[in-house]
Amino acid sequence: MTEALGIDYMALEEAHSSGVYAKRALTIVRGAGAYLWDSEGRRYIDCVGGQGAANVGHAHPKVVAAIQAQAAILLSCPEIFYNDQRALLLQKLTQVAGMQRAFLCNSGAEAVEAALKFARFATGRTHIVAAVRGFHGRTMGALSATWEPKYREPFAPLVPNYTHVPYNDLAAAEAAITEQTAAVILEVVQGEGGVRPADGDYLRGVQALCHERGALFIVDEVQTGFGRTGRMFAHQHYGLTPDLMPVAKSIAGGIPFGACLIGERVGKLQPAIHGTTFGGNPLGCAAALAALDVLIEENLAERAAVLGDFLRERLSDLPKRFRAQVREVRGLGLLFGIELRSKVAPVIKALQNKGVLALSAGLNVLRLLPPLVISQADLEQVAEAIEAVLTELGASELA
Ligand code: PMP
Repeated sequence: MTEALGIDYMALEEAHSSGVYAKRALTIVRGAGAYLWDSEGRRYIDCVGGQGAANVGHAHPKVVAAIQAQAAILLSCPEIFYNDQRALLLQKLTQVAGMQRAFLCNSGAEAVEAALKFARFATGRTHIVAAVRGFHGRTMGALSATWEPKYREPFAPLVPNYTHVPYNDLAAAEAAITEQTAAVILEVVQGEGGVRPADGDYLRGVQALCHERGALFIVDEVQTGFGRTGRMFAHQHYGLTPDLMPVAKSIAGGIPFGACLIGERVGKLQPAIHGTTFGGNPLGCAAALAALDVLIEENLAERAAVLGDFLRERLSDLPKRFRAQVREVRGLGLLFGIELRSKVAPVIKALQNKGVLALSAGLNVLRLLPPLVISQADLEQVAEAIEAVLTELGASELA
């Protein structure tokens, strides 16, 4: 039961929400740092991290204060006007990203959609090359770049002229990128597709092919951005210079916000070719300014690198110790994946019973996306919970 004050929230959602989400039997009502609490007051270590939106931690006091202050001053201000918060955010965001300009929007899919449109506009070409197991969102353009058949098939026909090539296969990219290619879109670590890191040589090779053939290079940092992988942006591990970089999730400390960073090779965009009512809204900009400050002041990218190394080291022997259950442990920074030999759902459920909330990536990868402010002691507890769950489930399989 989930009632507080006599209200059954689960029943209300069951009755009235769209039906497009498979939900866990848990009503989350509060968060702080790397903890979440359910409606019955039980505390969890959060390795879902708002699906990547909570890098600075839940209810970070600086983000809360910025939102509260801005809410009392100005909420709505479309980009037909200039705005103080937006100007400051654009300056900071482009400086942090090392790119020239940014289109501001409200989600990851929108940021990807903008990148795809800008690439077509800038090159006058229509073909897009994306990767097998890539995920870029669920609006029609972003969905066309997304690989997973079960997301795509109910909505065919999608946008034409999208090709999916095997990830980490430079020869396949070489064959697919042509004089008609507007852009190649890739993740540095495929998040939804199973926590699969790219090879640096592959990414640099694709970038060189884009330059050689007049295509733009879109690096989708929606999940990998803002410290998650141990650098502010994951492409910085490999010295890449994306032409277009969609970001979202943690950009504004947890409230809906996104951006498409725009590099020099894109050239000039014209008024009216794109836009959105809430893009660059003052509340989101103020929150994003505060969140970027927190990421920098608290060195959260560096922290993700150190804690990611700790967790990988701590769990590196899982494939040996749990040979029948675990295939591989992998990831970058605190974008962490454990590939199982069977379905991940029972593991996630058992972890929840032990007070740890975790994600899947596909059917058999356990994905951890904790807020980057998580303590090493809490990660140790997560590691112990994973070991205990694998031991229990392993024993029940043998029984
Ligand atoms: N790109 C990537 C790499 C993502 O991981 C996601 C979301 N998981 C998206 C795009 C879409 O973002 P949103 O859910 O905010 O639309």
